[in-house]
Amino acid sequence: MFSDYEVVIGLEVHAELKTKTKVFCSCKNEFGSEPNSNCCPVCVGMPGALPVLSKEAVFLTIKAGLTIGSQISPLAVFERKNYFYPDLAKAYQISQLEKPICVGGGIKLKSGKNIRINRIHLEEDAGKLIHKSEVIGTFIDYNRGGVPLIEMVTEPDISSAEEAVEFLTKYRRNLIFASVADCKMQEGGMRCDVNLSVRKKGDKKLGTRTEMKNLNSFKSVQRAITYEAKRQIEELEKGNAIRQETRKWDDNKNRSFTMRSKEEAEDYRYFPDPDLLPVRISEKTITKAKAELPELSEQKRERYVREFSLPKYDAEILTNELDTALLFEEASRLTNMPKQVSNFIMTYVLAKKKERDNLSVFDVISADNLAYIIKAISTNELTRPNALMLFDMVCFTDKDAKSEAVKSGFISKLSEAELESVVDFLIEQNAQAVKDYKLNQVKVENFFMGQLMKQTKGKADVNKGRTLINEKLQKYKN
Ligand code: ADP
Ligand code: MG
Ligand code: ZN
Repeated sequence: MFSDYEVVIGLEVHAELKTKTKVFCSCKNEFGSEPNSNCCPVCVGMPGALPVLSKEAVFLTIKAGLTIGSQISPLAVFERKNYFYPDLAKAYQISQLEKPICVGGGIKLKSGKNIRINRIHLEEDAGKLIHKSEVIGTFIDYNRGGVPLIEMVTEPDISSAEEAVEFLTKYRRNLIFASVADCKMQEGGMRCDVNLSVRKKGDKKLGTRTEMKNLNSFKSVQRAITYEAKRQIEELEKGNAIRQETRKWDDNKNRSFTMRSKEEAEDYRYFPDPDLLPVRISEKTITKAKAELPELSEQKRERYVREFSLPKYDAEILTNELDTALLFEEASRLTNMPKQVSNFIMTYVLAKKKERDNLSVFDVISADNLAYIIKAISTNELTRPNALMLFDMVCFTDKDAKSEAVKSGFISKLSEAELESVVDFLIEQNAQAVKDYKLNQVKVENFFMGQLMKQTKGKADVNKGRTLINEKLQKYKN
């Protein structure tokens, strides 16, 4: 029965902008401060307090729109969205309805399918209600109140959980690469609502949708979509109608619940905020935003292939996250060895990063340390095994790799005399190998190199050792 239906999804994605101040006052926009410490009459919603729009917030919204090919409106209007809830004491949220800052745009999926974007508008975030089981009552932290929030709304073009996650990943990446938002899901820096309906394949008309809220990871988006599509199809198969409603996803129970019947725009009685003038956005501002927009993930990817001849696959992995790309670029600049840097990051750094949650590659290792290790391998200052041991030692610390290498005796080389005495000793000990030298020079030479490294615990200079071994063995050739 499931194969008779198709799923139709539209997403509403909120992201907190990375501005210094809040959107309508000069309070700090900062996560994790003491509750209610970044507040003033404007952002706690005192009656009569007057909002003053942050230029920076508008500018970052424009940049967000540019990353997805939106048109930037020459005139944007802020409206009051009225509702009653203690997370916003003045009983309305300043948002945008008729004239948002960004209109249209789209994101292409790997399959070539384009997901159309309807708009991005700028609004204020609300305070955070905190419920604690050990206390009767609810706490309110207004630090989040007035934090600039952009809401991006897609057209109902998404047809599966996989497409939804791919779309979200790409949108999030754009915002991060453009330095518009950090999108830290675990801090509520990015939140997503899923609108979903199902219809019989071939039907032209869209089915009745539900809206799921409270999705704070891509994993829950995926699970919520799977759950809700199945629920709706089963209802329809039973002959029941779908109720248009807002549902709350519960990640622990892995199911959604009715929260309220869905409200319409009319319920909010939107009207232009008389305290805020319409905003004119000049061509000059848009040109400036375009000029400032940094290289995005896809542009970096193409450049790595072009400039450093990296395989496409490697370039893709290096540009999945901004910090990985920045570490790669910085260490490549320091070493002039982009291929080696790329290989080291892909093999060792990313594996280390996976060991812990929510960390950046820069928490694993600094560009300086990475550059030192890679250079030291290529000049034989460190043997590869010692270099890897050193990498392990400096990971997740702020230790300096070079000093650690010295302290650990990794780079204290043997003197020439010591080296020669070890080689002489090995030749004496391995008479059969010496005899075999005339039959297979390469094999025997490698054998002695291996023995030399083992005997000296990796402290022998590879080039000098090899030259010396060859010189000595030449004597036994005849
Ligand atoms: P509202 O104003 O009620 O929030 P919108 O028209 O702004 O409604 O749509 C909100 C989101 O719901 C958009 O992402 C849109 O693509 C999506 N959507 C609208 N109708 C449907 C539908 N029938 N099925 C799935 N998604 C839908
Ligand atoms: Mg909406
Ligand atoms: Zn304030």
